[in-house]
This record gives sequence, C-alpha cells and structure tokens, in this order.
Amino acid sequence: MNTAIKTDILVIGSGLGGLAAAWNAAKRGCQVTLITRATEPQDSNTYRAQGGIIYRGHGESPEQLVADILSAGAGLSSPEAATLLSIEGPRLVKEILIDELHVPFDPSPENPSELDLTSEAGHSIPRIIHFKDKTGFSIEKAFFERVQAHPNVKVIANATAVDLLTASHHSVEPTDVYRPLTCVGAYVLDQTTGKIFSILAKETILATGGLGSVFLHTTNPTGARGDGIAMAYRAGARCINMQYVQFHPTALLAPDGCFLISETVRGEGGRVVDRQGKEFMQKFHPAGSLAPRDVAARAIYQTMIESGEPCVYLDITHKPAEQLRERFPGIYAVCMERGIDLTREPIPVVPAAHYSCGGIATDDWGRTTVDRLRAVGEVACTGLHGANRLASTSLLECLVWGTRAGEQSAKRIHGGNGFYFPQISDWRYEHEAADPALISQDWLTIQHTMWNYVGLIRSEKRLNRAMRVLRELDLEIARFYEKCEISDSIIGLRNGILTALLILDAADQARESRGCHYRID
Ligand SMILES: Cc1cc2nc3c(=O)[nH]c(=O)nc-3n(C[C@H](O)[C@H](O)[C@H](O)COP(=O)(O)OP(=O)(O)OC[C@H]3O[C@@H](n4cnc5c(N)ncnc54)[C@H](O)[C@@H]3O)c2cc1C
Repeated sequence: MNTAIKTDILVIGSGLGGLAAAWNAAKRGCQVTLITRATEPQDSNTYRAQGGIIYRGHGESPEQLVADILSAGAGLSSPEAATLLSIEGPRLVKEILIDELHVPFDPSPENPSELDLTSEAGHSIPRIIHFKDKTGFSIEKAFFERVQAHPNVKVIANATAVDLLTASHHSVEPTDVYRPLTCVGAYVLDQTTGKIFSILAKETILATGGLGSVFLHTTNPTGARGDGIAMAYRAGARCINMQYVQFHPTALLAPDGCFLISETVRGEGGRVVDRQGKEFMQKFHPAGSLAPRDVAARAIYQTMIESGEPCVYLDITHKPAEQLRERFPGIYAVCMERGIDLTREPIPVVPAAHYSCGGIATDDWGRTTVDRLRAVGEVACTGLHGANRLASTSLLECLVWGTRAGEQSAKRIHGGNGFYFPQISDWRYEHEAADPALISQDWLTIQHTMWNYVGLIRSEKRLNRAMRVLRELDLEIARFYEKCEISDSIIGLRNGILTALLILDAADQARESRGCHYRID
C-alpha cells in the first residue's frame, strides 16, 4: 500500500480562491494541506490580474452592484449569488485584504486617506480599488506569504493533482458509510520525483482556476488547462454554463504568448487600427474603438479573418510618452521587453480567451454535487456571472466563496463529520516514456480547433467539424494516457481535451446567442 498523507482539508490551487479557503480554515484550527502545480505563484490567473477588485463606491448600496452584475450577465446571473457578493464582498475586502494583509492599494490622489476608486465597462459608478496595474500580483504576494507562514498550513509546490479520489471508485474496502459520490482526497504527482502519492482529506476544495489554454490565444498562463473541471467531471460532479467563455478584445501578440492590454488603454484614447493605420471599428459599433468588450473582440476577430492578418493594432502614440509610462507601468514594461515601445509605435493585438463564466456547479458555500468536494474561484460556477462577467468581479468572487468554503468545511470537520480515512488503491505505474512531439502537436490541434471553430463566432458547421476532430483526438489521448509514464504535461493534455469537449458540447446545445456565446446561425 502507498503511504498517504492524511489531512483535514486538501486545497488544490494557490490562487486567490485557494488561499482564501486555506486561510479561513487554518484560522479555525483545521490542518490544511495546500498543493499547487506551480513552482512560482506567477502560474496563476490571480497573479496576472491588472485592473482591480470591487470594493464600495461613494454612498453605494449593495443593490446598485447587484443591478450592474445582473445587467452584464445577460439575464442568466443568479440574483442570490450577486446579492451575496455585494453584501459579503466589501466586508471581506476590508477585513482580510486591507486590515489583515495590508495589501498596498493605491490611495486617492485627491484625498490620500481614502483609497482610489476607479471604474470599468459596465460599472455604473467608480467602486474598484487597485494597486497600479498589478492588483493581482499584490494580493497574491501578500496572501501567499501569510498562508505559507501559518502553522496549520502545509504548502506542497510542484505537485499536480491527477484525479480526485472517490470512495466508490478508489477505496479497496466496502464504503457503505459514504454516499455513492463522496470525495476523499486526490492522487497527486510529485513533479520532481515523478511519483504519485495520495492525499486523503475529510474535505477537498478545488481552486484550480481557468481554462484559457485550450484556445490558441489566451491571456491566461499555460497552466490554465481546465484541470479542476476535468477532474471534477470525471469524479461525477455537474459542470454548467461551459459555453460562456469571455474573450478579451486586446491581448499583446508575442512569440511567448499573449499578455492582456487593459481596456483602460482604449478608455484613455487608444485607437484600434489595421496594418495601414486605418480605424475600422466604426463599421461594427457607433462607439468605434470604445465599443463594448464582446463587440470589439468579435470585430477584431472578423477583421483578422477577412484580411488574413495575424493581428490588428492598438495605437496610443498620440498621448504624451511620460503620461503613458506613468499610467501603464506594467504594460509599458512588458511591451518594452518584447521590443515594442508603445509611446512610439502601435501595439500588435489579438482577441484572446480570458475568463470562464461556467464551471463546476456550486451553491453559496462552494458545495458541488459530490459530497465533501467544494469548488471556488474561476473553476466554479456559482451562477454569479451568468452569460457574461462584469469586469473585476472575479477576484471578489474568489475571496467571498473561498472564505465561505473554508469556513463551512471547518465547521463540518469540528462538528464530527463521520469521516474515516479509507484504504486507497495504489497507483499503477506504466513505463513507456511519452513522446513530446505527440503532446505538443495534440495541444496545437486542440488550441487551433477551439480557436477557429468554438471561439468568438460559432456556427453548427464549425461546431460539427470541431466535434469530429476533437472526439477522435480524445480517443487517441485516452490510449496514450493509459500507457505512458505520467507527467504534468500528460495530465494537462488529458484535462485539456476533456475541458475542450465540455465547452464544445455546451456550445452545440445552446442554440441561442447570449452574452459571450455568439452563434451566427
Ligand atoms: C490577464 C488577466 C487579468 C485579469 N484581471 C482581473 C481584474 O482586474 N479583476 C478581477 O476581478 N479579475 C481579473 N482577472 C480574472 C481573475 O484574475 C481570475 O478569475 C482569478 O484570479 C482566478 O483565481 P483562482 O484562484 O480561481 O485561480 P488561479 O489564480 O488561476 O489559481 C489556480 C491555481 O491552481 C493551480 N493548479 C491548476 N491546476 C492544478 C493541478 N492539477 N494541481 C495542482 N494545482 C493546480 C495553479 O498552479 C494555481 O496555483 C484577470 C485574469 C487575467 C488572466
């Protein structure tokens, strides 16, 4: 038998969702094991968040934020989830981020004793706080350090969850005490030794983030492969709203991947132009370069397809150079590293997969349809975002649902939840080394197929073609996975193809265009 790690709570993922859950459970006296496949916190969407996190506008009531969320969600957002976020969110930002962690949010230039409040598309008033254009970085850094230092938390980095353990599938003894679908932990790959070990947990919280990497262009890091969604789906959890993938209109096109160019660049006068420097957005929307996010993303995609060009350009060179360097230090630095001086030349941009509004269905305590399994953050679908997400709500959703999942898991454990640690079957090792050429080509097939057929503009023809390609590939990958030596990249490929198929199936079934799901037929 394998020796397994035993813990009260297993948290999978070290972005804001996972950190908030781990922090609250640890403070309530539970032993928490937090695993992350990342070596550095950079490999998370949290780290990349630029714009900010919602706090509270001047004189604002929770109802005003609820109204904005419901309006962005195109009629599909859950009013209960929006109300919960609007009431709990600002309180937790104050208690945890400001008072406990001292995240250095920017002060207001007019009144330095207050925080600077900014606005973004879809917000009726300024209510977003930020740290320059590096809000996610500052939250992740402060939070990770505190969680790591907590005596009740053990952090294991370079550890990739392979699959969730369910009593009915993985226990080697009768499991009558459990409901048929009960999660008891996870199999985990130690990336440094290549060995698989099990972590048995009384409660498991999935916080593995998004899925942008199944598309050719994405603002997400390469680790956003839908791991959590695929693991939960295989364990029997319900996943919903998978067709609603939000695309950002402007990401820097660079050989080492995309980098988000914040919408504030358009907001502050940036013009979207073609290779000849001509504006074209007026054809698609009266607001031209300031068209709403989804219209702008589709317009740019359509223009790229028609012109055969690999990108369009965002031109803000008419603004004073000093002002641009001061206002966008992060974007300026990233562009310069790639040889582009945005004060002198237009930035090559493409639309890019940015945020998954769907995911593992959860209630307002993060519970999934599998007992003892919760999901928080981008991997979950709380119903908050409906068919389209209001900007800057996702960090707040991580904080609220992560904190609540930690709290309720701890309560359940202290209440004596009748858990006993079952014996789990050993991992069976297969020793055929994986051919890296197959892995990289399979990824390219997934990413190109999803981009061209299941991306910004969908149709029955495109979806059918994608279905044929990806189902065939799924069989190939399943055969491959059975035989070869397990590694982080094989795990990711297996999860990537399943996540892609879940998006594709949902897009195929949803015949009506709504929010960020757009069909031309
Ligand atoms: C460029 C960019 C800008 C954004 N700007 C904003 C913004 O201004 N405001 C806002 O509210 N939102 C913003 N968002 C969205 C927001 O950042 C994310 O939705 C949110 O941070 C997700 O947090 P999370 O904890 O769910 O996941 P992540 O922060 O992505 O963390 C996931 C964690 O899971 C780990 N993991 C994944 N798979 C496994 C596995 N199999 N085993 C072990 N560990 C695993 C990863 O290593 C990582 O630690 C932005 C997103 C991007 C990409």
